[in-house]
Amino acid sequence: RAKASLTRDICFYDVEMDEAARDRTKMAKELWTAIEENQFRLHYQVQKSVSTGEITGYEVLLRWHHPERGNVSPADFITVAEECGAILPIGEWVLRQACIEAASWPNNYKVAVNLSPVQIAHADMPALVHSVLFETGLSPRRLELEITESSIISDKQRALNALRSIKALGVSIAIDDFGTGYSSLETLRSFPFDKIKLDRSFLIEVENSDEAKAMVRAILALGQGLRIPVLAEGVETTDQLDILRDEGCHEVQGYLFGKPMPMGDQLEIEVEAA
Ligand code: C2E
Ligand code: MG
Ligand code: MG
Ligand code: MG
Repeated sequence: RAKASLTRDICFYDVEMDEAARDRTKMAKELWTAIEENQFRLHYQVQKSVSTGEITGYEVLLRWHHPERGNVSPADFITVAEECGAILPIGEWVLRQACIEAASWPNNYKVAVNLSPVQIAHADMPALVHSVLFETGLSPRRLELEITESSIISDKQRALNALRSIKALGVSIAIDDFGTGYSSLETLRSFPFDKIKLDRSFLIEVENSDEAKAMVRAILALGQGLRIPVLAEGVETTDQLDILRDEGCHEVQGYLFGKPMPMGDQLEIEVEAA
């Protein structure tokens, strides 16, 4: 009996595995057609200076509206796109589209685009960034690329060379989700980042936990020592903002200031605020 039920459990498990694999394969196919079918949109989330409250830039966040699935979260489809390689054309579309849109804004704010580690490893990013800037006429000073530590882990020398060439174009590089990787300090030592994005997870506890506050303080001190400005992600409350201000954080981003939305909606909010 025990054996029979064990076998049944194993079979059940296998079917589930198959289904998950089939779902991923199906999604992978759909991702390849999503660009042609115009299913992607860019949303923007505002970034602000802590000391002046002024807007400093906008982060680009990719949105996928699938005809049957509806809105699919990037947390769910980016991994699939990375596994099947679709992230290369998708990432190129995001970069070009973001630069086209930013070049038409009535202001000179920065635009921050997320880069996948797969793009750093498998695309000639310096050449792509160069040609997209040339095509769109966007000033390199207005473009920031956000990378995570995992970008630098696989082929470190190649990744660092690519980042150096991109920086030489005048484009800035931010390290995203800082503090969540394995070797954050080593990563900071190996490349002159222009910005550190403190991961949202540090803020979740900061109001109630002295330990979390100590971590935030330590990372801000690290940024100060290295002369790299720190932006805190995922700020949701005024208490969090007060702590960040007290501790010398430079920039903030989060639902407290605005959710990601199309640029048209952002501009309406700016006009209303003015
Ligand atoms: P990320 O780059 O760290 O982006 C920040 C995420 O936090 C976004 O989620 C944003 O909507 C969310 N967020 C912002 N403020 C708050 C807040 O106050 N509270 C909470 N709870 N969340 C907040 P989103 O848009 O779902 O994107 C998730 C991740 O997907 C991004 O994390 C990024 O790693 C990836 N991603 C999004 N767009 C792209 C893209 O164009 N290319 C690549 N390679 N990855 C992307
Ligand atoms: Mg990001
Ligand atoms: Mg992040
Ligand atoms: Mg993230």
